[in-house]
Amino acid sequence: MIKPDRVVTSTCPYCGVGCTLELHVKDDYIFKVTSPFDSPVNHGNLCVKGRFGYDYVYHPRRVTTPLIRKIPQKAGERTQAFDLSEWREVTWEEALNYVADKLVEIYQRDGSDALAVYCCAKATNEDNYLLQKMYRALFRTNNVDHCTRLCHAGSVVALQQAIGSSAMSNTASQVMLNDVFIVTGSNTTENHPIIALQMKDAVRQNGAKMIVVDPRRIELVDFAELWLQLKPGTNVPVFSAMAHVIVKENLINHKFIAERTEGFTDFIESLEKFTPEYAEEVSGVPAEDIRKAARLYANARNAAIYWGMGISQLSHGTASALALIHLAFLTGHIGREGTGLNPLRGQNNVQGASDMGAMPFHYPGYMRVDNEQNAAQWEKTWNIESGGLSRKLGLTTTEILSHAHAGGVRALFIMGENPMMSEPNLNATREHMQQLEFLVSQDIFINESGAFADVFLPATPFAEKDGTFSNTDRRVQRVRAAHPPRGEARPDWQIVCDLAQRIESRLGRATAKWDYASPEEVLREMASVNSDYAGITYDRIDKVGLIYPVPDLNHPGTPTLFTDSFPRGRGKFIPLDYVHIMEEPDDEYPFILTTGRVLEHWHGGTMTRNSVLDEAYPEARVDIHPADAEIHGIRNGDPVKVQSRRGEVVLRATVTEKTSVGVVFIPFHFAEAAANLLTNDALDPQAKIPEFKACAVQVFPAREKDLANPEAVVSRGRY
Ligand code: SF4
Repeated sequence: MIKPDRVVTSTCPYCGVGCTLELHVKDDYIFKVTSPFDSPVNHGNLCVKGRFGYDYVYHPRRVTTPLIRKIPQKAGERTQAFDLSEWREVTWEEALNYVADKLVEIYQRDGSDALAVYCCAKATNEDNYLLQKMYRALFRTNNVDHCTRLCHAGSVVALQQAIGSSAMSNTASQVMLNDVFIVTGSNTTENHPIIALQMKDAVRQNGAKMIVVDPRRIELVDFAELWLQLKPGTNVPVFSAMAHVIVKENLINHKFIAERTEGFTDFIESLEKFTPEYAEEVSGVPAEDIRKAARLYANARNAAIYWGMGISQLSHGTASALALIHLAFLTGHIGREGTGLNPLRGQNNVQGASDMGAMPFHYPGYMRVDNEQNAAQWEKTWNIESGGLSRKLGLTTTEILSHAHAGGVRALFIMGENPMMSEPNLNATREHMQQLEFLVSQDIFINESGAFADVFLPATPFAEKDGTFSNTDRRVQRVRAAHPPRGEARPDWQIVCDLAQRIESRLGRATAKWDYASPEEVLREMASVNSDYAGITYDRIDKVGLIYPVPDLNHPGTPTLFTDSFPRGRGKFIPLDYVHIMEEPDDEYPFILTTGRVLEHWHGGTMTRNSVLDEAYPEARVDIHPADAEIHGIRNGDPVKVQSRRGEVVLRATVTEKTSVGVVFIPFHFAEAAANLLTNDALDPQAKIPEFKACAVQVFPAREKDLANPEAVVSRGRY
């Protein structure tokens, strides 16, 4: 048995659950991962990614030397270079000077709007804070965003409008206090496996009633009291019909509505049209099941709603999330332990990156950039002349790429994200990327986006850096280096500070602080303005983390929000209409494609496809219902071509009743059959989130030789 040199406690780099990891290290290699039973987040449990998915840190494809492209790239002719032979190894000095020279040249020639940056939901709070600071303080632009735009932007906008705060109102482990809970648009077992364990425990041990609302027969259906199998994109009529029933049957919480909300009268008028029968007609969910779900939820002592991207990733994602918020307002199932509105955040630090201001409309702490007082506060903190920071709202991720043309965005800096896998309509994304004049990738692998770059800056993965992540519960937890960086790789926060100093001297700007002694010093600077984090120090979160808001150094944290009031005062009912998905099926494209994740993989696959996890699930599959498969002559395992108006992929079919008739499902992790070649880039007008969850496709039989890798076969078959 191997005896570790040391065991380092850290936080999982994959999903928003934020499980505690114990990294067992021998000779500067992690050889085993365990978890302590007293972790308040995961109680010693880990899913396959947290337990085994750390080996990407040592993968031979990892890049640990700064690189510059051998052939200079030009706007309009930019190509992808995955092979190291197309890159020149350079010193950090040369790489950073080159990046600083180019960014400053473009800024001085074309102004602030020509620059944009993707921060990273996988990087630490400190990394994200510094990168947004660099772009705001030095280039005076709010063209700062990250992949929150692509996952929960609809939820964020809805919660901000109705409540004034966009994080989960309660912690996930409070599911154990629910009598009734709704899980919707979330395949929790595959996306947040440890939260799914707690949900199943709540049912089995406590007798809680779970209502699943989802187009797919996800594993949680086996534990549910009710499953409402709706058509993709019909959340608003289904949840509004539940609200209709709650009002008509007088199951409302009169006291809560009177004391804590506004807009009720207009709202109930808008509900008239959402009868259960109308909802059945458009969604396929039996009216009687809608009535049962409404009564169960409204009559519970403590009820909560947990949701995922099936709610938000729609061109009406904001309205979808508002329909859920209304249910909590009508019944008063918010503001107490075991109740609440809980958008399950996807990436390990998507909550934290948003808290750090990695968004185009907000400074850290969700302070609007177009508010004078907010701007003045950050000008003071960053030692910037009065009026120096831009008050103009920046571009979102999706807009940054569509503005990549002459007169628009010319230079893009990408830290740890992979838009060439994660954006919708990837053929259009490719064209946009090619139009950039200058592209920097700061990452650990040359992924599909980094391959387009001029410069590659090798960063460190979670196991080689210190800092903090904020999980979906709002729990701020420590990330600790298990061993020194491989090769010449550097932690992101150090790369950003080094680059910022070079840019600042070229611009001749007054000096903002960039010479931090540690990431903790970075966090303390952010917390000096963002009161949610004011009481968080590395000492205080040494063992178990703290759940923000933590307004002072003695505050114990706030697991349950909105106990007395909402940040905007009263909760606001906002009348809704049913808006259809942008691309309904027709004769040419008769199926609805919906996309999502599988347990073994993560997002664009930069980490998991360079891990042993890829052996467990090595190929993309499309799920198709047996009735549809029979009509199209497709058997389980057959190669098929899936085509939309924007692109096509070839992959094997899984014939399964997990999906419904007329709906096919493809995970979006696989570059060789990238689901996002097919998806629709139509945006929610408010949240600017694309409609990943529903577009029209056709499915055709294909040949073995058309598969990218015919040898790869998924062997798992649990559910
Ligand atoms: S549930 Fe999420 S945080 Fe926990 S081990 Fe799995 S991927 Fe990591």
